[in-house]
Amino acid sequence: MPQSIPEPEFDELYRELILDHYRNPRHSEPLSDADVVAEGYNPLCGDEVELRLNFENGSVSDLSFGGRGCSISRASGSMMTDLVIGKPIEDVRRLSEQFNKMMTDPDNEVPEELGDLEALQGVAKFPVRVKCATLAWHTLEDGFKQRDEGGLPPGGVVRHEE
Ligand code: ZN
Repeated sequence: MPQSIPEPEFDELYRELILDHYRNPRHSEPLSDADVVAEGYNPLCGDEVELRLNFENGSVSDLSFGGRGCSISRASGSMMTDLVIGKPIEDVRRLSEQFNKMMTDPDNEVPEELGDLEALQGVAKFPVRVKCATLAWHTLEDGFKQRDEGGLPPGGVVRHEE
């Protein structure tokens, strides 16, 4: 990571949670039969994510998260999988909106349904790192868009740049 990128400081409890997701990302085994594959890249920090999505009856039935990046980007994606799997797409879109709001307004009260993602609230005070946190979510939205448009583009992958 470039030296010029500031490192937010977190309360001890939050720091532990972020590092735990970073070191042991949830749902990191790539889905082999994904309906949609969406990739995201954040050139500011060098973060890369790969999401593989399966849908069933308007819900995200399964989701895997992979890629490389800083602890914030990895923790955000890992926490996202825990929160999103099994939920109807419209609920996930609302959660995504809430998360984006949390990341752009440091004074915004964090809704309880964001769960562990609350740990990332401190990132909002570091605009240059916000993209690390939002990358996985914006990539997910791209994946949803692709689903709405009827499947994978030529080459099979949706690409998003923060
Ligand atoms: Zn990053």
